[in-house]
Amino acid sequence: MSVQKRIFMCGIATETHDFNKYPTTLEAFTDKGLYYVQEGESLERFREGDLWFGGYLEVAESEGWQLVTGVCAFAWPWGSVTEHAFETLWARIERQLRDEAPFDGILLPLHGGMACEHLDDPVGEFVARIRRIVGGRVKIAASLDLHSNLSPQFVRDCDIVCGFHTTPHIDVRQTAVRTASLLARTLRGEIRPQCHSIHPPVLFGIDHGRTTVPNTPMFTLLKRAEVIQAEDPQLLDASFMPAYPFCDQPWTGTSAVLVMDGPSERVNDYLDEFGAEIWRTRDVLTIDIVSIEEALDSVEQTAKDPGPFLLGDFTDCPYSGAYGDATAMLSALIERGTPGAVFGPLFDAEAVEQAHAGGVGAQIEVELGGKSDPRFGGGPVIGTATVKALSDGKFIHKGPFMQGQPGDLGESALLEIGGVGVIVNPFPSQLHDREQLKLFGIRFEELNVLVSKAFNHMRADFEPLSRGLLYPDAGGVFSFDFSKFPFEKIRRPIWPLDDFEISPGDMDRC
Ligand SMILES: [Zn+2]
Repeated sequence: MSVQKRIFMCGIATETHDFNKYPTTLEAFTDKGLYYVQEGESLERFREGDLWFGGYLEVAESEGWQLVTGVCAFAWPWGSVTEHAFETLWARIERQLRDEAPFDGILLPLHGGMACEHLDDPVGEFVARIRRIVGGRVKIAASLDLHSNLSPQFVRDCDIVCGFHTTPHIDVRQTAVRTASLLARTLRGEIRPQCHSIHPPVLFGIDHGRTTVPNTPMFTLLKRAEVIQAEDPQLLDASFMPAYPFCDQPWTGTSAVLVMDGPSERVNDYLDEFGAEIWRTRDVLTIDIVSIEEALDSVEQTAKDPGPFLLGDFTDCPYSGAYGDATAMLSALIERGTPGAVFGPLFDAEAVEQAHAGGVGAQIEVELGGKSDPRFGGGPVIGTATVKALSDGKFIHKGPFMQGQPGDLGESALLEIGGVGVIVNPFPSQLHDREQLKLFGIRFEELNVLVSKAFNHMRADFEPLSRGLLYPDAGGVFSFDFSKFPFEKIRRPIWPLDDFEISPGDMDRC
């Protein structure tokens, strides 16, 4: 009879916008975390739903593993992670890793887009510390968001690296299953995985990882990997990372990661090919970024077509690390007098409090939004608002993104100001599921236009019912005019900040 394998799972994860001026504190990972799993906690609440943990649980049960839960702390995207937050979480993980050893494998649910105030490569440092503790024998397997900035050192320290294959991310659980299944085959002695990577100097590439339009860069790369896999069984898994561009650290940028079975003579050819393809398609973008005026013109011109128009106020998208309280789009809607418009969620705890104090039907004097950093997307909208609806903000995702997971907008309200419906809530968030609108009695299908502070994820539920989708650049902190941001630590030259040519042979690799 074989001995039961012991697997340890832990992670510190977030997506960090280094130019968001507010730090990500310990509380943002724990009390206010997106997911916060504590030492020894059962993963039962994650059994269903599209998250890492359900996927790990599935494989652990079918393999008969003893899965030991360590701290898995995910903070919402925000500014640089404080040294206190990272080191406090790490100390807890380290203690458990030492106390409960030995382990046969380590599973790491991570986001590779984290930046810390005291580390140049926090994701690489996290794995390096684990590797130093467990030694070379224990297998380390990481599952990552594709918006990852990976260093060659990170790839070297992992035995298995798997990234999401979809944006909107609807394969989180599937990625965890891929990762854990490869770990299982490794522990059964069937494969000997080795990770290899190439790091094309592109700040934000592969069409940001989108898988919404066929035959675009992410699809092409994944399809090519499938073809190679069919010919060469040594290729166990392939991931392509478009990067998360607002981490000011040396390894910010694109990468391709291949998991090979044992030493491969062909892996460098594959890396060359993928590196060249990522470089060749670096300026391909399948979204339409327009001015505010162009966006509202399109809404008007298509008013007779069926379905709502969807506008992504993406430069202020909190899920991308922006503040979530920029007002430029709201001001434009009011000025235009666009009918049937809902905007939000606008992060404004004060307005929420006023609305709940006043009750439905009340008229309240507000200074809406624009408080975090008015340089990015405008200051407060001042005026009289009517409270149209109140909610506790709790819902269950029914759309494809985060399906089955509970969601929470917090104590929130629907206000009307200048003829525009504004959903206000007490922390940065986004609208990406029709259930969120139902909280306020809004049926998405009946709107003329929805302006969501969202980027890609809202497309999963909203786009199929929409008559159009555009992304107005309203000047928020998640703008793609990268020259506006004072990068200091990133590798140079890097596209698009520098004008240069490079061949795959000159790209960093592991
Ligand atoms: Zn992502």
